[in-house]
Amino acid sequence: MAGTGRSHRVRPGAGLRPRAGLRPRAGLWPTAALALAGLTAACGTGGETGPAGSGAAATRAVTPAAPPAQTVRPPLPDGGTPDGGTPDGGPALAVHAAGPADCRRDKCVALTFDDGPGPYTDTLLRHLAAYRARATFFVVGQSVTANPGVVRRTAEAGHEIGNHSWSHRDLTTLPAAEIRRDLARTDQAVKAAAGIVPKIVRPPYGALNALVRKQTSRPMVLWNVDTEDWRHRDSAAVARRAVKAAAPGAVILFHDIHPTTVKAIPRVLKSLSARGYRFVTVSELFGGAPPRLVHGGAPPAAAKL
Ligand SMILES: [Zn+2]
Repeated sequence: MAGTGRSHRVRPGAGLRPRAGLRPRAGLWPTAALALAGLTAACGTGGETGPAGSGAAATRAVTPAAPPAQTVRPPLPDGGTPDGGTPDGGPALAVHAAGPADCRRDKCVALTFDDGPGPYTDTLLRHLAAYRARATFFVVGQSVTANPGVVRRTAEAGHEIGNHSWSHRDLTTLPAAEIRRDLARTDQAVKAAAGIVPKIVRPPYGALNALVRKQTSRPMVLWNVDTEDWRHRDSAAVARRAVKAAAPGAVILFHDIHPTTVKAIPRVLKSLSARGYRFVTVSELFGGAPPRLVHGGAPPAAAKL
């Protein structure tokens, strides 16, 4: 993170495992969203992708419960799936077996998209729908207010909405009251847009310390696979990184404000579907109750697939 010399990533050690089973159209984009895109370039250089940081007080990873059984599903029918993703108007594209994923048995991954909503989020929703994939969107409050419709559509499609702060400030630099206000303002924006209040929080840059954690009782959800999509503005590279690092129980970090990332997603969905993965929300991954702190610095041991 050139410029500030700070890096924030919390880098706990343990990988993640599900604890239990359980279970569009962008219009005109206000300047807030575009400003966010620029801001997130800083996010990339600054932090959600940066190395373990000084300021980010080391937080301990939650020890996951027993890993799910590594049941490998039979090969899924792959015909007609998009590779590059234009589900609109195409043939039936569903590649998943019907029914909710059971992460005790199924190979589950949680795709997470930060810093939106943005101009490409609706396209991403279509890609996900084509694979009946659920994902988690950690949204920035000011962008939610500027573009409430896409947040509503995201929630209606069954995806999880997480709180990613109001304006993507490093929460570790703020006093307690300000942190609470920031999160509450974002909650209100999501509630107004989608009628729900986020149950999970991802602090910008993954920057956490004890003070930040005390300001909410909700789980703080980081990630254990970082695609560095802000750096690799190349769809093939983003897809390759995600697919290579994916493992059962992985929480994979993307940013849906980058068109290259959104374009990479059909390939990710196709490849991981073919390997028997189910795409679930973060809360689903943890049986509906994520631990207080969800993160892992290293990807889970690579599955032999
Ligand atoms: Zn972010």
